[in-house]
Amino acid sequence: MSLGIYIQVPFCQTKCTYCNFHTGVVSSARFAPYVTAVQREIREHRARLCNAGVTLPTSLDSEIVDTVYFGGGTPSLLDPAHLLGMLDAIRETFRSELREVTLEADPETVEPQRAAAWAAAGIKRISFGVQSFSDIELKATGRMHRRADIYRAMPILHEAGIFNTSFDLIAGLPHQTPESWHNSLDELIQLAPPHVSIYLLEVDEGSHLGSELLRGGTKYSASAVPSDDAMAESYNLARTLLAAAGYEHYEISNFAKPGFNSQHNRKYWRREPYFGFGAGAHSFSGLQRWANAHDSADYVQTIAVGKTPVEQLETISTSQALEEELFLGLRQLAGIDLGRLQDIYGMSINDRFQTLETSGLLERDGSIVRLAPRHLSISNEVFVERMR
Ligand code: SF4
Repeated sequence: MSLGIYIQVPFCQTKCTYCNFHTGVVSSARFAPYVTAVQREIREHRARLCNAGVTLPTSLDSEIVDTVYFGGGTPSLLDPAHLLGMLDAIRETFRSELREVTLEADPETVEPQRAAAWAAAGIKRISFGVQSFSDIELKATGRMHRRADIYRAMPILHEAGIFNTSFDLIAGLPHQTPESWHNSLDELIQLAPPHVSIYLLEVDEGSHLGSELLRGGTKYSASAVPSDDAMAESYNLARTLLAAAGYEHYEISNFAKPGFNSQHNRKYWRREPYFGFGAGAHSFSGLQRWANAHDSADYVQTIAVGKTPVEQLETISTSQALEEELFLGLRQLAGIDLGRLQDIYGMSINDRFQTLETSGLLERDGSIVRLAPRHLSISNEVFVERMR
């Protein structure tokens, strides 16, 4: 096993209408103090976690950090020197052999000097917030970039030696039609990023668009959001076109050319340990999960006065661990190995799958169970709920 590190950068240039993340639009003057706080949290994490009641397993002492993920927010807004400073703090604090360092970047933030500095800092994987190739959809959702920015950014990244890119697309954006979705997929496939994430629009009250949809209003182009059935069709079309273009569908939302699965995210799905640093970042030791407070100004202040930023701490019981195995296992198309779970948890969970198997929602292959491909567009939370 190895250790992953996630760094949360909760700043954006604007608030996209569908976004339900804890991110803020702040003056760039707040970036440097935030980065200083993250560096300090990394270097002093042991003492602060101890103060919060976190008990780190001794086995973690020998783990090597091999993946780092800068997520947000829009971490590509930071000065590259800030990113390098946080990577230096990781290298100085942990045993590390960084094999995969990912930066989430919005297309309009990619410039030659920045890209060269990212590569020099060891950032060789860019998770690109493309979302759509339709300017109508991008404009309606408040995105800062346009289709042309995607085409402008790619050669800049390649010139800097960064070829390992992942593109995000969202099915279900306002004004999306079957034709515009097909076109976004075609353009993406032409650009051939090694990794692709396909998300379905989330409707919840945490975003402007979601809350407008829930109350039946028309602001934020809510009346132009495709139906659930159209979204499911879009997802299935993505599966078909991406498979034909040589992408393996390996997780509900993720597709990769051979050898380009996300090493960092795999740790989340396999319940491997990771530390999260920054406001709102989550961590998992294998035994406990904890999360930092969300407000970035409070976070900076808390770190400055030597306190712990941890706000929630939970020790995972055996039954919770098993629930997590089921939920995360069914997200992966390789499925769940019931024999392995029986060895670890000492109980047979065959019975829990029978109803779903009978209704054709699950497939079984020896001791492996997995979601039936034609039902992948249904949230796997629904499946897990039905197994309880
Ligand atoms: S750029 Fe990403 S994190 Fe920032 S507001 Fe838009 S969707 Fe949310």
